[in-house]
Amino acid sequence: MLTNKDMKMSFQIGQIMGIPIKLHITFLLALLLFVYVFASSPASFGYNDISPASTRYFLSFVTTILLFSSVLLHEIGHSYFARKYGVKIDSITLLLFGGVASMEEIPRNPAQEAKMAIAGPMVSFTIAAFCLLSNDVLSSLQPSFSDTYIFRVIWLIGYMNLAVGVFNLLPAFPMDGGRILRAWFATRMSYVKATQQAAYIGKMFAFMMGIFGLLVSPWLVLIAFFIYIGASEEARTTTLSVILEKVPVRKIMANDVVSVRPSMTIDDLFRFIFEKKHMGYPVIEGKSLKGIITFTDVHTVPAQERVNVLVSDVMTKDVITIPIDADASEALKLISIRNIGRLLVTDNGSIVGIISRTDLVRALQLLGE
Ligand SMILES: [Zn+2]
Repeated sequence: MLTNKDMKMSFQIGQIMGIPIKLHITFLLALLLFVYVFASSPASFGYNDISPASTRYFLSFVTTILLFSSVLLHEIGHSYFARKYGVKIDSITLLLFGGVASMEEIPRNPAQEAKMAIAGPMVSFTIAAFCLLSNDVLSSLQPSFSDTYIFRVIWLIGYMNLAVGVFNLLPAFPMDGGRILRAWFATRMSYVKATQQAAYIGKMFAFMMGIFGLLVSPWLVLIAFFIYIGASEEARTTTLSVILEKVPVRKIMANDVVSVRPSMTIDDLFRFIFEKKHMGYPVIEGKSLKGIITFTDVHTVPAQERVNVLVSDVMTKDVITIPIDADASEALKLISIRNIGRLLVTDNGSIVGIISRTDLVRALQLLGE
């Protein structure tokens, strides 16, 4: 379970429980890779003893599809509880190393976060148990069943799910185990401290795994590296957003909003910017907001054309606003998700301020970060 950022380069294949299911471009690569690995590995973790090649590759393909379907079910397990606790889920994306449920925010309630995190591995263990038990039952009813291809596919899916479940319980972000650990710490200390503690353990774990990997397999070193990055990233974003949550937007926004008209030329705007010294301006006509124009937009117009080009030609029309009673962590989220420099602050539909990346950074510095 990861919370996510922008999952670009992915396309939708369907919907489950109203949640769009997407495939990331790297997933196609994973598909080929897994088919190849299954086809070239010896029994029982592969089919290299089976001929003709068409049967071998068909079995590998079926196994790969079933494996990724199980990963999808694992993510749905997380999403089911997330939804129950009121977390909005935008989509589930399957990518190279498993799935990502893209959700707004994880609940800051230790018991809820723990249930949500453990739901995924539980789904994987359930699938594993189901596969391995049904193989046992079917073989005891019909001994020749254990020689069939179906038996081998079910066996492999069972063990892979067991591995997915165990791997996700590793006590490190971004694995589910890291979240369970944080939830446990969070029952006895603040959320930020709990995150830092969990991240610290995750990093130590990654470090030891890396050392061990040097002796055993370069793959482990690579995985350890990702765990290390994941732990650091989680600690950083959580700390930032928890600090900014206590800061209302109205406290750090710029109040004196100076607007410009869409019919102004870029040449006039250029002088206007030097006079007013703001870096971004809402573009307003009459009473309605038409867009936003920034110093960066102005720079896209060559100097000799500035007399002919109007503000309305280069402004950004898709303006992103935030209500005045929001807190600064929401502003940070919008600014980073949309990758923009500033947001207009509205109160009952009218513009009352502007909040920029710089304002947020300053607020963080003042608060000792
Ligand atoms: Zn998970």
